[in-house]
Amino acid sequence: MIDFRSDTVTRPTKEMREAMAYAEVGDDVYGEDPTVNNLQAWAAKRLGFESALFTASGTQANLLAIMSHCGRGDEYLCGQSAHNYRYEGGGAAVLGSVQPQPIENEPDGSINLDKARAAIKPGDFHFAITRLLSLENTIGGKVLSLDYQRQARAFCDDHRLQLHLDGARVFNAAVKSDCDVTDITKHYDSVSVCLSKGLGAPVGSLLLGSTAFIERATRLRKMLGGGMRQAGILAAAGSIALEQGPLRLQKDHENARYLSTGLAAIPELEIDPSRTQTNIVYARCRSGKAAALRDYLASQGILITAGEPIRFVTHRDVDNNDVKQLITATQRFYRQQP
Ligand SMILES: *Cc1c(COP(=O)(O)O)cnc(C)c1O
Repeated sequence: MIDFRSDTVTRPTKEMREAMAYAEVGDDVYGEDPTVNNLQAWAAKRLGFESALFTASGTQANLLAIMSHCGRGDEYLCGQSAHNYRYEGGGAAVLGSVQPQPIENEPDGSINLDKARAAIKPGDFHFAITRLLSLENTIGGKVLSLDYQRQARAFCDDHRLQLHLDGARVFNAAVKSDCDVTDITKHYDSVSVCLSKGLGAPVGSLLLGSTAFIERATRLRKMLGGGMRQAGILAAAGSIALEQGPLRLQKDHENARYLSTGLAAIPELEIDPSRTQTNIVYARCRSGKAAALRDYLASQGILITAGEPIRFVTHRDVDNNDVKQLITATQRFYRQQP
């Protein structure tokens, strides 16, 4: 199967499996797993933070971030389409007693800072206490500009808010912004990064921040059941993902652009090529046949997500030939329609 559903579907490489097999391990709850410790130390340095924490998932990293910045009855501002608002089971509210205050995202994925200012609650006991602004980059495959992120930092300083980045795909953002990842991460108090998406690890994410912040997050991770023992088995693959994964993301972006151009030539599909900024392509099916297209492609050995819009994600395990096959099969599907 050629799988365009997500960049989470990548399988560990032979090199990762070998590193996992021979990883030096210890009990990470005791802080004694050298492979985890190396990954955390190296990641902190690479992304420009004092400390880092290896987590089971991106959802866990975001939850730990929100709970480490905010207490019971506090509030965080986020985008209406933010992953840590829409797609994480309401964890911040359920498990952290932290109230989300979503704000409609602008078309470029940013949160208008005047709208954010208006959403900050007054210092009055009727209200939750606004502590945190959470941004996402990339968001729906779109990249926040460096200038906007600089403004968001100044905004948070002015209003004494903490600033978190859901950077599940922050390395894709850095490639597209043609900058080092630290040119993005330097604006934030904390950042979460997925190792198991485009970077290609089988499991795991990282949370980055100050040493005091990561100490709070480590306590919460244990409380939430995320203390893992010989986790070096996973961190070994994560280290390879963090070291080598970013170098090949450009290829995924090129494949996505090629796909976007190819699909845009099909009259039944509506594609905004300016939306294809990184490794995700969205298309709307004018004739409402998204599910039929998905089923046809599956019969041809190609998997896609037939939401509204349809989503295609490029990653290490699909190459330019696979993209060509997807375009050809999609053309064939629409030619066969009455
Ligand atoms: C995938 C994703 C997450 C969550 O990561 P999981 O490892 O699937 O829990 C968080 N934020 C964004 C933007 C994501 O794309």
